[in-house]
Amino acid sequence: MTDIQNHNESEAQSLEHYWMPFTANRQFKANPRMLAEADGMYYKDTSGRAILDGTAGLWCCNAGHGRKEISEAVSHQIKQMDYAPSFQMGHPLAFELAERLAQMSPQGLNKVFFTNSGSESVDSALKIAINYHRANGEPTRTRFIGRELGYHGVGFGGISVGGIGGNRKAFSQQLLPGVDHLPHTLDIQGNAFTRGMPTTGAEKADVLEQLVALHGAENIAAVIVEPMSGSAGVILPPQGYLKRLREITQKHGILLIFDEVITAFGRVGDAFASQRWGVTPDLITTAKALNNGAIPMGAVLIDDKIYDACMQGPDGIELFHGYTYSGHPVAAAAALATLNIYENDKLFERSRELEGYFEDAMHSLKDLPNVIDIRNIGLVGAIQFSPSNQGVGKRGFDVFERCFANGTLVRATADIIAISPPLIIDKQEIDQIVNTLADAIRATD
Ligand code: PLP
Repeated sequence: MTDIQNHNESEAQSLEHYWMPFTANRQFKANPRMLAEADGMYYKDTSGRAILDGTAGLWCCNAGHGRKEISEAVSHQIKQMDYAPSFQMGHPLAFELAERLAQMSPQGLNKVFFTNSGSESVDSALKIAINYHRANGEPTRTRFIGRELGYHGVGFGGISVGGIGGNRKAFSQQLLPGVDHLPHTLDIQGNAFTRGMPTTGAEKADVLEQLVALHGAENIAAVIVEPMSGSAGVILPPQGYLKRLREITQKHGILLIFDEVITAFGRVGDAFASQRWGVTPDLITTAKALNNGAIPMGAVLIDDKIYDACMQGPDGIELFHGYTYSGHPVAAAAALATLNIYENDKLFERSRELEGYFEDAMHSLKDLPNVIDIRNIGLVGAIQFSPSNQGVGKRGFDVFERCFANGTLVRATADIIAISPPLIIDKQEIDQIVNTLADAIRATD
């Protein structure tokens, strides 16, 4: 028996125990896709087969895989100090990372609250918004406005402001009260195959005025949106839409939260989508590429005025919220090493430089069977198919499986394939992803 066979047999035995997240467990376990190694632009599966990473893992590994700078920083830190308590105690790396993030962030967002995931960043941002209004003498501002098709993780706060039906329905009686939703901005009929931001649709932001009239500005804490929806299938904001949201929230004293768990750290061609589109929110949630996915970590970037308002009460704990692993020293070391790579290798600029090539490559798939839309910005793009008569999601999943069988990792959500490669990708690798996709699409009913 070879080593690989041996390995596969022991895998088959152990598959039963792990309940996999957001996964069709029975389907997966019948035909597992197991990754074992990663370097540069490639994964290797357990049989040693190379898989080109078209998704930066799960929108995480923007600096590519196997970066020595990160593993060395992690190894050094874990030896020096593996863990430090985060309540009423500090350690230098968390402060250094907070300062570094404040320097990169849009103007005014100079305070940082650390979490361990995107979901925790979202729930933290929602709590901070409520805390701010209470400290600011407006305790009735507790409602939130999210958006249809929004994805804000899986905490009860996140699914309540989120707008993906499948994630909410099973928990519908337990969702936060006092949440309403803006309409989504996807308009395939009007904007199919737009390159970059659609020119029409900004008026969808004006629905916020209706929601304010309905609920009363004095009851609304914050509006939360992804500047570009990632998980729902790369839905770009129409030109002028985010600016309009900013104007309306500002007019009514409502905080604006941009959930940049996917868009931050170069994905759309700037450190933050907020900078690319010139609209500054009051809070930004991040995670994933913050430390290249190396160690779970998230961060909320917060406007000074929010922090300052919360610091006004009597001396004592100002925010009754936090995590055992907030600002974890090893995760922080990984993040500092990652931010150095982004800067030294000019990866955010690279995302912008390759945007045109990536865009042309993605849109070359336009005339293939069942393709109804292609969307892109920076180094992120999506191809949407019409659903097959075997049900919603079947066609998308078939394309994903074919790409994986042919050595490329893409991401399927319903009948949409999203591509979000590490920002170190080169033109030849972009071609390889698109050629594999083209073959998979042609082979799929
Ligand atoms: N917010 C957005 C915009 C996301 O895309 C995600 C994950 O994809 C999350 C929040 C949740 O992040 P996590 O899975 O790290 O909790």
